[in-house]
Amino acid sequence: QAKAQGRDRFCFFDPEMQEALLASIRLERDMRQAATLDQWQLYYQPQVDEQGVITGAEALLRWAHPERGVVSPAEFIPLLESTQLINDVGAWALERACEQLVVWASQPQFAALTVSVNISPMQFRERHFVARLEEIFTRTQVPLSRLKLEITETLLVDAPEQARATMSLLQALGVRFSLDDFGTGYSSLAYLAQLPLDQLKIDQTFVKQLPDSRANAAIVESIIVLAQSLELEVIAEGVENVEQRAWLLAHGCRLYQGYYFARPMALEAFEARIMRRAL
Ligand code: C2E
Ligand code: MG
Ligand code: MG
Ligand code: MG
Repeated sequence: QAKAQGRDRFCFFDPEMQEALLASIRLERDMRQAATLDQWQLYYQPQVDEQGVITGAEALLRWAHPERGVVSPAEFIPLLESTQLINDVGAWALERACEQLVVWASQPQFAALTVSVNISPMQFRERHFVARLEEIFTRTQVPLSRLKLEITETLLVDAPEQARATMSLLQALGVRFSLDDFGTGYSSLAYLAQLPLDQLKIDQTFVKQLPDSRANAAIVESIIVLAQSLELEVIAEGVENVEQRAWLLAHGCRLYQGYYFARPMALEAFEARIMRRAL
């Protein structure tokens, strides 16, 4: 028994755990160098209307790692957050998106596109968040009506008053807000009405189970009705097949994002796709 206990106590030296620890240390080291090595990239996933016309894109961060290839956000976002690097990398992503909106503004086939940028709760709560954004907006001269910031319900649950104040400051500048992953958090419906929101984004876990799961269908239907009564735009993410799209359209959701239409892609591919349609 004593032996078993001893083994538990020294489980830190378990070779598998040690390997995992080393791997995460290496990943963190590489991540700190990623900016100087130009390894961050912004991918664009089309958002389409009921005619299939691309109205905009969600900008999604990618890390082009020399050995690992393209690393997924699921792996590096938590690490960016735990190391506070999210503030700098998040600002980089936003600035890149703003620069792109400026380029597009002068080209008729791209001028109407919107870009949605994800903001992590940690970035949003950072003391200089608003000032930092204002600086980016001034530097890039982005057409702000084309920019959407995607935030999550966590913010509203933890500090609703602070969230509202920050959002109001940014809304006054012309920024729009989308509530990402909607339905997975626990925000109070009373709060939703008081926030300067423009869009609800139905989380993909609900969309995925359409139309078979009746419980899910009921949830999605309520979200759509809620958005309509609050006069918010509603978009479904994670649309993977034609049945899901048809169900959503029949229930009043007219904006979609998902693999059924397109995967996230590099800038050149996204632009090429729009050009093809414009021909
Ligand atoms: P999200 O904001 O909810 O983004 C949607 C995710 O769903 C993206 O994953 C997208 O590739 C994926 N997706 C889109 N359509 C489908 C579909 O039809 N089927 C399936 N299975 N997946 C689909 P991605 O790019 O891996 O990003 C994951 C998360 O990482 C994002 O979730 C967002 O929370 C975070 N993230 C990505 N880029 C940024 C960024 O620049 N800043 C911050 N703070 N977070 C980011
Ligand atoms: Mg998002
Ligand atoms: Mg989402
Ligand atoms: Mg999500």
